[in-house]
Amino acid sequence: MRSALYDRALELADIHQTPVFLFSSERLDRAVAEFAAFTARLPFPSEVYYSYKTNYLPALCEHLSLRGFGAEVTSPLEWDLATSMLTPSEIVVNGIGKQAGLLDTVLAGGTPRLINLETDTEIEHLTARGPAAHVVPVGLRVTIPEISGEAGRDPSLHRRRGVSKFGWSADGTPIIRAARRLAEHPAVRLGALHIHLGGQLVSAAVYRTAMLSICRLLERLRAAGVSIGSLDMGGGLASGWVDKRRVGPLFELLRVMGLPVRGRPQRAPDLDGIAEEFVRFAPRLRSLGIRQLLFEPGRFLAEPSLMAVASVIAVRHDGHRRHAVLDLGTNALHCWRPDETRPIYFESATGPAAASTRYELVGPLCHRSDTYGAITTPTPLQPGMKVCLDAVGAYSIGDWIANTWQRPPVVSLEDGTLLWDRQSSKQFWSLTSSPMGKPS
Ligand SMILES: *Cc1c(COP(=O)(O)O)cnc(C)c1O
Repeated sequence: MRSALYDRALELADIHQTPVFLFSSERLDRAVAEFAAFTARLPFPSEVYYSYKTNYLPALCEHLSLRGFGAEVTSPLEWDLATSMLTPSEIVVNGIGKQAGLLDTVLAGGTPRLINLETDTEIEHLTARGPAAHVVPVGLRVTIPEISGEAGRDPSLHRRRGVSKFGWSADGTPIIRAARRLAEHPAVRLGALHIHLGGQLVSAAVYRTAMLSICRLLERLRAAGVSIGSLDMGGGLASGWVDKRRVGPLFELLRVMGLPVRGRPQRAPDLDGIAEEFVRFAPRLRSLGIRQLLFEPGRFLAEPSLMAVASVIAVRHDGHRRHAVLDLGTNALHCWRPDETRPIYFESATGPAAASTRYELVGPLCHRSDTYGAITTPTPLQPGMKVCLDAVGAYSIGDWIANTWQRPPVVSLEDGTLLWDRQSSKQFWSLTSSPMGKPS
């Protein structure tokens, strides 16, 4: 089954030339079904908002909107796309972009499902609107100190890299003060806590740690007269398509000492275990006022939905090493990390099979990080052959143009003339199958 899909991908690459990205709505639907099966096991009703920054291919976003998923947006660019197919009430607003025009755009455009606030500045921004302004539902972004400081349970949680730039600590008084400020203002309705725990989460233990901390916080909020009805659990669930080797201080120390210990590869999220944690905490959460959950999956949905096909442009021998150079660099596949393994499929040559040959697959960039890892083939790779790099749907085509922001203008240093116009939302979304890009 799987190889039929890859064969089809190679066929399409013949027609469209490489490098090319191929989107599979069938793969996407399988992930949608898996996520729906997960939320069906939870002891609370849940709503799902797809994280647009993960991959804002309009066809993908449109597909998910037709399946009843809302949008989670972090920039005006994403808001423009989301509102072309969803109503504001189906959109959750997050991230740094709020203070960069998004908040004003959103407030002018209606009432979103939820705006998750993460700084006192944003609270000031909202409460400055005066008591007669329309009421907006807001959440408070919470960071869990035990998780950001934890050493290596999930692949993403290796080492504390400074304090999070998002949100208030679940401990301490600043979050209580922030909540009280919001609860007292007539033009906001504080109803949620937002807990985005990181990326590529696989273990239930992370959720247990988070919920212990959240329950303590909910108790303190109650004591301060603030009641919360929803938990927005963010995104971060691993897609199950990528093997990531666990790293941490111990692994890194051994590596530095020249002892190449490879971490245990982790791939699929323990959805049963995670659902069980919600079941275990449900009575306590319910007694603290929680009635519903929100989720903001990104990679879980998007990662399997896209593959890339590249061609071998050169095969180079260097002693016993062989490099197959592809016409697609890791700059275009920002998602590809050295400690991760994704499925790779390649065209096999006709002719007699030789003893297995090992190739290092590399991109064309003059940069040592431009490598996809090693593959072993029974038939030699030759220039012109195609290689399919699978599960590249998350943090690839969006990150190519610098995550969620439009390309800035280019101006001549000598005479100040505009050499390349600032990209507008309209230009950005043009020539796509999105509702915005469709010729009217
Ligand atoms: C990036 C992000 C997501 C999606 O994360 P994934 O790891 O792709 O699931 C969800 N919510 C917030 C707030 C994010 O920043």
